[in-house]
Amino acid sequence: MNAFSLQDRDALLRQMGFATYDAYLKSDLWNWVRSNLSQLHMAEKCMKCGVRIGLIWHHRWYSLSVLVGNVTATQDVACAYSDKLADTNPVVRLCCKCHEEIHFDADGKFITDLKRVDARLSGQDLTADWQKEF
Ligand SMILES: [Zn+2]
Ligand SMILES: [Zn+2]
Repeated sequence: MNAFSLQDRDALLRQMGFATYDAYLKSDLWNWVRSNLSQLHMAEKCMKCGVRIGLIWHHRWYSLSVLVGNVTATQDVACAYSDKLADTNPVVRLCCKCHEEIHFDADGKFITDLKRVDARLSGQDLTADWQKEF
């Protein structure tokens, strides 16, 4: 199951024994997953604007295999990765600025619907009219 909301993400994390996403990000597991991702991803730059500093990992969606860093799944991800948005890639490189831009709407409100965040990532409509399409 792929989780496209933060509520579903948190439910997956609770299944894994993490009380919060923050606890997950501070865990040895995430450190390990992150180091795996760093080894597999060759393009050390923001996939949206191309800068090479201040990079973070953005989860486009969550699943148990993504969260535990399933190596097979992660290798599939690496194969699918390019400078462009790849549909099969759940975790991508972004700079902090682009990350903020896709996660916060024009009113400065944090967007919890990851499908909407994803549309912003792929450069689709960033205007207020956007929601009407869904
Ligand atoms: Zn960027
Ligand atoms: Zn993100």
